[in-house]
Amino acid sequence: MDHEQARKRIDFLKDTLWENSRRYYVENAPTMSDFDYDHLMHELEDLEEAFPDLRTPDSPTQKVGSDLERGFAQYPHKYPMLSLGNTYNIGEIEDFVKRAEKELGEVGFTYSCELKFDGTAICLTYRNGRLFRALTRGDGVVGDDVTANVRRISNIPYKLEGSGWPEEFEIRGEILMPYESFDRLNKERLDNEDQPFANPRNAASGSLKLQDPDEVSRRGLMCTLYHIPAQSVTFATHSAALDAAASWGLPVSDKRRIAHGIDEIEDYIRYWDTERKFLPYATDGIVIKINELDYQNALGYTAKSPRWAVAFKFQAEEALTRLVSIDYQVGRTGAVTPVANLEPVQLAGTIVKRATLNNEDFMSAMDIRVGDWVKVIKGGEIIPKIIDVDIDRRPADSVRPAFPTVCPDCGTPLVRDEDEAKSFCPNVDGCPTQIKGKLVHFLSRKAMNILAGDATVEQMYNLGLVRTPSDFYSLDMQKLLLLEGWKDKSARRFLDSLRSSLEVPFERVLFALGIRYVGETTAKELARHFGTIEALREASMEDLLAVRDVGDVIARSVYDYFRDSRHFDDIERLKAAGLRFSMDEGSAPSSEVLAGMTIVISGNFSISRDEMKKLIEANGGKNSSSVSGKTSFLLAGSKPGPEKIKKAGDLGVRIVSEDEFMEMLPDSQSRETADGDPGLFEVEPTLF
Ligand code: NAD
Repeated sequence: MDHEQARKRIDFLKDTLWENSRRYYVENAPTMSDFDYDHLMHELEDLEEAFPDLRTPDSPTQKVGSDLERGFAQYPHKYPMLSLGNTYNIGEIEDFVKRAEKELGEVGFTYSCELKFDGTAICLTYRNGRLFRALTRGDGVVGDDVTANVRRISNIPYKLEGSGWPEEFEIRGEILMPYESFDRLNKERLDNEDQPFANPRNAASGSLKLQDPDEVSRRGLMCTLYHIPAQSVTFATHSAALDAAASWGLPVSDKRRIAHGIDEIEDYIRYWDTERKFLPYATDGIVIKINELDYQNALGYTAKSPRWAVAFKFQAEEALTRLVSIDYQVGRTGAVTPVANLEPVQLAGTIVKRATLNNEDFMSAMDIRVGDWVKVIKGGEIIPKIIDVDIDRRPADSVRPAFPTVCPDCGTPLVRDEDEAKSFCPNVDGCPTQIKGKLVHFLSRKAMNILAGDATVEQMYNLGLVRTPSDFYSLDMQKLLLLEGWKDKSARRFLDSLRSSLEVPFERVLFALGIRYVGETTAKELARHFGTIEALREASMEDLLAVRDVGDVIARSVYDYFRDSRHFDDIERLKAAGLRFSMDEGSAPSSEVLAGMTIVISGNFSISRDEMKKLIEANGGKNSSSVSGKTSFLLAGSKPGPEKIKKAGDLGVRIVSEDEFMEMLPDSQSRETADGDPGLFEVEPTLF
């Protein structure tokens, strides 16, 4: 390859890697496999090695991928948070050991072998034995402050046990979402028609960046800690520092082993390559670190990773099994999804019995048939996926499965729009599965939060008690006691939760209606934009398209929904029952970007101090009058109080200017003053 070709290829690799890094770290929705990403990264490293003049500081080989996001206060890391050199090749682990032995001498040091936990990195600071701050890796130099969320992770102690901890120290590790929590969360998301997370890693990092600490605590995250920066403590070895941390009540992995050379390292890798499949959380490899801190210091760091550690990554797991049959499932919006029933097979810690076949096109492209041997993967994408069919082992008499032409539930002919890959049952208000699905959705926690699940709805439906959401509000004691196993107490609880649901804000009621494509976020946007159900009902396609993040498909779906008189009638009945169908002036936050944050204001601003406080509350934040360790940041205008500034400095509380603060708010507000008047920066619309 000549210099010019190398330059072009390097540019291409840099662009591709940065783009995928953003999808992975910021959107938590990667579209490339880790294996392919690492392969391209290694190609870039090799090219930069061969053409060193083409290596630039902005190359992804020189910087860690950034997870920084708007809406979080940011603080610098005391010591940079780096990545790890990684390989899928055991030969390169041998090279790592040889290099270490050559540089450090053959004896006198050991290796700490550890699991490589597949979550998102976290840096905790303990001050005087109490959790002081939690930062994400961010861009390695500065991290997002997620302390409020981390406080809601149950195995992270707020207060240390025992004794001997330094007055202040950092400890780093990984926030993980165990498989059990992940499965529960994805089931909920699918029920709510939200996009499921691709894997527990994305789910963990997405959850850690939520603006609602209560929701974080429900997500079932856990933490495991694996590194105390050597400068923070005075131990001779990495393992001794972690043992001490464990004695202070910190969650340190007990799967660590000390190895004395390559043979013991390879034993550890071999053992965990199999055993990790039985762990309740995801791991994607093994990390090998020089254990003695003096030797770590001697080896030092590259721009991006320590020279004293290396990761051996496991290939994505796959298994062969047979396709036994195909089910066609109808969802609450009528989408028909083919699901493969497989001969049970052990894969990545669970027994896989089912895998999605997505849609008709996917099945045709694969030419998949009942009786086929199929290759299933989990790996990065933890939802089992069929990736290959072994045509050579196909039974001679197999036939192509015919995708149903009518709804498997109600027999209505299916429809498929040109630009849709999925087929739908159009009998939206008559297909029993769709009706029950919508009723379950209406009651669900994120919608009306009424205490009843699938089985209760099934019973109520079978007894003819409910067909539409408004029917729930005409249930009384007598009717509820018809349900099998229901006594006074259960019926009363249900009626109580029906009553409480009258307090549910408009945006959630709108979400509860189950309009196709209207998930939680869209419901919020629509509620805020139109304010009342009447305004939404009257909205034209053009009006709907003016709402943030609403495109043709959503606008059409909402528009059509309100053109159906049955929906109209049910909404009238729900209104009569007392549900909220308008935004309450001033009560709902305009955003939740400041949720979980306690903010102190000081000085003068371009709006009055009262208005500034309202703006904080309107975005989910809490006002406080004095700076303390719990303060998320001090919002300082002109002439701030010197006492407050000093205290913030002493406690390490970040000071934020009015401009920076406005930057944190959603676009629509950052240009408006608190009472909604256009601010100074409003731009006149132009005609060209
Ligand atoms: P990494 O995940 O390969 O390894 C470093 C990280 O491992 C550390 O930051 C730490 O968070 C974690 N870790 C887990 N257990 C550990 C232990 N016992 N000791 C020390 N660290 C431990 O590196 P990264 O920089 O976080 O991410 C880069 C990787 O992410 C890439 O190699 C790639 O696989 C993946 N990625 C994928 C895409 C994609 O599009 N699929 C995009 C960007 C990055």
